[in-house]
Amino acid sequence: MKYRLEYIEKQGRFYHRINAGNAFGHSLHRALDVFHNAGGAANVSAEELAASLDSVWVGGVGKGFAAAEQEAAFREEGMRILTEYHAARVTQTAPVTPVEGEEEVILPPPPHLLFTEKTLRIDLTPDVALSGRVDRVDEHHDGALEIVDYKSGRETVEEEDVSRSLALNIYQTLLKAKMPDRRVFATLVALRTGAQASHEQTEDARTELLAECTETGETLRNKDWEGVLPVLNEHCPYCDFLPHCTRWWKKNKIHDS
Ligand code: SF4
Repeated sequence: MKYRLEYIEKQGRFYHRINAGNAFGHSLHRALDVFHNAGGAANVSAEELAASLDSVWVGGVGKGFAAAEQEAAFREEGMRILTEYHAARVTQTAPVTPVEGEEEVILPPPPHLLFTEKTLRIDLTPDVALSGRVDRVDEHHDGALEIVDYKSGRETVEEEDVSRSLALNIYQTLLKAKMPDRRVFATLVALRTGAQASHEQTEDARTELLAECTETGETLRNKDWEGVLPVLNEHCPYCDFLPHCTRWWKKNKIHDS
């Protein structure tokens, strides 16, 4: 039903509402996009990165945030996250000082930014395309491509979270289709703590996903959308279309709502 309302009837513009969580996440994504495109920690200080949050801030009271105090708390948390993110980038790229008497540690050069906030798209059939928007892609010194995805709400992340993420699997499939001679893997970054985990999709998993997406695409194209009706389920309380479906249930005397 959500698909019907979003993509067939195109009603999203009447129902989508920004909330504090997604306004906050969007703001952090924008700040990190600007930071990495400006050259990262080599060119932007921690203070400049934290202060940049103001210029990219999304929302306001009544636009995602319930009150000025709530917005200020989110902004403060955002500045803390960005300051610590910057410190971690400095540590990752700092040269290792040799310790007398110990063998010198030679670290590989840090990866360089390939692109940020880019939509990748491939045709699965003449009528079905698969697309996804990646937060960032880094290129490592050995040619490997790392898809980096930021999560502003979570504090921990495990490799299994990456291997099970439909979005990250789709991004890897798309990038591998675009650059088949490169090793591709994905990393999820929990911005609140800096925790991160990576996983590389296997060839079998990629083949399976492509078949599944093609089948799903064909199902969506050939569905009898008139026959798809709202059914109360566990996702309804968090769905922007709830007012629409509640009206339908009332009109049709379903759920006594
Ligand atoms: S409110 Fe429930 S039934 Fe309606 S679109 Fe959302 S999830 Fe589907």
